[in-house]
Amino acid sequence: MANLRIDSNSIIGIVGAGIMGRGIAQIAAKAGHQVVLYDNWDGAVDNAMKINEKELSRLVEKGKMSQEAKDKTISLMKPTMEIQDLSVCDLVIEAIIENKDIKQDIFKQLEDICGDVVIASNTSSISISALANGMKRPDRVIGMHFFNPAPIMKLVEVISGLQSDKQIIEDVYNLANSWGKKAVYVKSSPGFIVNRIARPFYAEALRVYEEGVSDFATIDEVIRTSGKFRMGPFELMDLIGNDTNYSVTESTFNSYYQDPRFKPSLTQQEFSQAGLLGRKSGSGFYKYEDGKQVGRELVQKVTPSTLDVKQVVVHGDLGCANTLIPLFKNAGIQVLEAKGEGYISFNDIKLYIANGKMASQLSKELNQRDIAQLDLNIDFENTDSVSIATSIIATENTASNIAALFTKIGKEVLKVKDSPALIMARTVSMLINEASSTVTNGVCDEPSCDIAMENGVNYPIGPFKWADKMGIDKALEILNNLEDFYKDTRYRADRGIIEKSIIGGKYYE
Ligand code: NAD
Repeated sequence: MANLRIDSNSIIGIVGAGIMGRGIAQIAAKAGHQVVLYDNWDGAVDNAMKINEKELSRLVEKGKMSQEAKDKTISLMKPTMEIQDLSVCDLVIEAIIENKDIKQDIFKQLEDICGDVVIASNTSSISISALANGMKRPDRVIGMHFFNPAPIMKLVEVISGLQSDKQIIEDVYNLANSWGKKAVYVKSSPGFIVNRIARPFYAEALRVYEEGVSDFATIDEVIRTSGKFRMGPFELMDLIGNDTNYSVTESTFNSYYQDPRFKPSLTQQEFSQAGLLGRKSGSGFYKYEDGKQVGRELVQKVTPSTLDVKQVVVHGDLGCANTLIPLFKNAGIQVLEAKGEGYISFNDIKLYIANGKMASQLSKELNQRDIAQLDLNIDFENTDSVSIATSIIATENTASNIAALFTKIGKEVLKVKDSPALIMARTVSMLINEASSTVTNGVCDEPSCDIAMENGVNYPIGPFKWADKMGIDKALEILNNLEDFYKDTRYRADRGIIEKSIIGGKYYE
C-alpha cells in the first residue's frame, strides 16, 4: 500500500461537529486546508458553522483577521451529514462521543469510504493502541489531542499507539505546528501528558482541605499568588465541572491499577453526587450569582503585630527564598548570615523554608515553641503575599510577628494550619514527581512535559522549570518527608528524581 504523507495540501475531515470538532475545523480552515465537517446529528453542523462564523467575525472586529481571510476560512469548511463526503480526505480527525466501540465503528467506515487515510482521534482517555486494534491499517491510527477551546489553546498532543507509523506521527506533528499550535510527541498511555501530570494540582488541594488545613478561598489564593497559576484548583474544578473532573480522576486512577498517586477525593465525589458541579450548576466549591464567583475574597490573612523587626539572621541556603535577603536589606533590616539548614530567625522565631515536615515536628525536635514554616513561592521578590504555618505549640503572636516582618517588605501573610509542605511546596513537588514519572515511563521527554503543561493548562512554568527553580534536592526532600509523614506510597519519589539528584545539575543548563 502507498505511503501517505500529510502536509499543507492535505484535505482534512472532521467527524463530530461538537465543542471540539468545530474548533478543530476552524483551525484547519484558517491554515488554508479544505475541510469537510461531518456530524450525524441534525443541527450539529449548522450550529458549528454558526459559532465558527461568529468567532471569526469577532476576530475581524478586533482587527486580528481580515474580512478576506475570514471569508476564505468559511468557504473552505464544507459542512455535511453524509459520511461519504469524507472520501476525499487525507487526514480525518475524529471528535465524537468518548466511547471506544462507537469510535472504532466510525474508523472502520472511514477505512472503507476513504481508502488511504490517516485517522487521528481527539480522545482524552482512550488508548490509541486499543483504537487501532482490528483496523486494516493500524499504523495509520494516531491521536491528535486538542484542548478546549481548540482555536485558543496552543497545545496538541500527537499520540502514537504501539503500531502507529513514525512518518505519519512526524508529519502530523509538523502539521499541527504549521497551524500555529505547539505540538508534542506522546506515547499512548492513560491521561497522555496533561491529564496525567495535572492530577496532583487538584488532588493535593483537596487533601489539604480534607485535613482541615485551609479553606477553598485561601488555598486558591495561595496557588494564584505564590504560584502565579491563573486559577486556583477549586475555582478551576468549578469551571471544568466537578463531575467531569472527578470522572477523569477516577478513570486515571483505574487505568493505573489504583496507584495511590491518582486516588480520587471523597470530597469531590460528594460535591459531584450532590449536583454541586460548579459554574454550570450555579454552585460548587463557590456559589455563582449572575456568573460571578462569591466568596473568593474570604482569605485567611494575618494581621501584623506592631513589632519593628530590625535584624534577621539567615541560616544557610534559603533556596528560591534567597531573593528575600535584598528585600530585607532594602527595607533597612540588618541581615546577618549564619550556618544552618535554611531558615530565617528573628526575636525567638525560626521561620523554616517548607521541606515536607510540619513546623510542629521541628518544634518537638528542637524543643522550641516559636517555629513556623514558609511556603514555596515562584517569585518571592515580586509576589504580593507569602503563606506560612506556625507550630501548634507556637506562642500566639508568632504569626503576627512574622507578618510584621513581611509588612516591612510590602507583603501580606496568608496563614494555613500547620501541615507537611503547606500548599505550594507539596503541590509543586507532586507535579514534578508526576512529570518525572511520565518521562521515566517513556511517554515523552522533559521539555515536552513543560510545553504541554504551559500550553495545555496554562501553567506559568512547566514542572521541570519548577524543579530547576526550587532545586531537585529540595523536591526530593519534600517528597521523602511527605511519604514518611503519611506512610503513603502516593508520595514515593520517582526514580528519575532520585537519579537527577545523584547526577546533580539542572534540567535546563
Ligand atoms: P460534543 O458532545 O460537544 O460533540 C460530539 C459531537 O459528535 C456531537 O455533535 C455528536 O452529534 C457527534 N457524534 C456523536 N456520535 C457520532 C457519530 N457516530 N457520527 C458522527 N457524529 C457523531 O463532544 P466534545 O466535547 O467535542 O468531545 C469530543 C471528543 O473530544 C471526545 O472524545 C472528548 O473526550 C474529546 N475532548 C473533549 C474536550 C473538551 O473539553 N470538551 C477536550 C479534549 C478532548
